[in-house]
Amino acid sequence: MKWEDNVRKVVPYVAGEQPRKAKMIKLNTNECPYPPAPGVAELVAKLDCGDLRLYPDSHTTPLVNILSEYYGVKPEQIFVGVGSDDVISMAFMTFFNGDRPILFPDVTYSFYEVWAELYRIPYKTCALDEDWHLRPEDYRQPNGGIIFPNPNAPTGVLESLETVEKIIQANRDVVVIVDEAYIDFGGVSALPLLEKYDNLLVVQTFSKSRAMAGLRIGFCIGSEKMIRYLNDVKFSFNSYTMNYPSQVLGVEAVRDDAYFKGITGRIVNTRERVKGRLRELGFTFPDSRANFIFARHKTVPGEQIFQALRENNIYVRHWNKPRISEYLRITIGTDEEMDTLLSFLENYLAAS
Ligand SMILES: *Cc1c(COP(=O)(O)O)cnc(C)c1O
Repeated sequence: MKWEDNVRKVVPYVAGEQPRKAKMIKLNTNECPYPPAPGVAELVAKLDCGDLRLYPDSHTTPLVNILSEYYGVKPEQIFVGVGSDDVISMAFMTFFNGDRPILFPDVTYSFYEVWAELYRIPYKTCALDEDWHLRPEDYRQPNGGIIFPNPNAPTGVLESLETVEKIIQANRDVVVIVDEAYIDFGGVSALPLLEKYDNLLVVQTFSKSRAMAGLRIGFCIGSEKMIRYLNDVKFSFNSYTMNYPSQVLGVEAVRDDAYFKGITGRIVNTRERVKGRLRELGFTFPDSRANFIFARHKTVPGEQIFQALRENNIYVRHWNKPRISEYLRITIGTDEEMDTLLSFLENYLAAS
């Protein structure tokens, strides 16, 4: 017997690289190219270091309250975590404790599989159809819970509210988690379905549409009962998950709704323009409703374009995985950044 026999062995999630170079164009982890709301910068300057002496509010009350007002739900229906990764990880631990496999798409956020392995939750993947859509009938088999992003990552494909409801309706005896990390870029949220279904949990994040990936703020909204169970697990794990600066700065971000609508609207406009140009350059892609485009070129291999971009300080995401190895996931940056990318591609593709 060695001590290593008792180790929980896991294959960790691999996040996109985070190079810090002066002149890079970073389109690989779906961050927002614009800064957080101006009120956030003002508050950063005013933060009192003396406040760091104390533990933060373990219930993140100010954030819960402003989110409850913003989304028109009770504070008891909201749970805040350190990024939606933390929220989803807690939700896996809380809700997925059956013997039946949980279900998620074969092409999706790769962290789901990692959490399932970490917590030893049996799981099964369901193949997306050839247009990268979920097949609701796949989610009619016996299961211990369901999770999928809407819009999906890395495809950007949005499912209609009818499809989402069909899946929830067919699975009233398990928890269905809809990961809405990208819903603010033109999608239709499942939040209104909460009135009908107490087994639905909707997860959102400040990392993409609210320009705050660096502060790590995520939250979910569900029935009061579900949120109570989630809090029981969280308070059995670590009471003070979210630090004080993130709590107060997060509130400030929600307050400025005009700014939020402004930056998400700009990203959507840029996305639609970039779609047209990519098509002209010979790329094909599913129609994205997120802040990225999942594109492949008609003739040039994905890996090759990925490397060429990288050598020129333009970072996009590429996976050597079944079904998606020819694709690049390109985050929508500023118009200027996208123009640099597009003119590089134009020259590069003309030469290859
Ligand atoms: C980015 C992302 C998350 C995690 O975001 P956080 O930064 O942890 O809030 C969760 N789900 C999907 C599908 C994502 O793309």
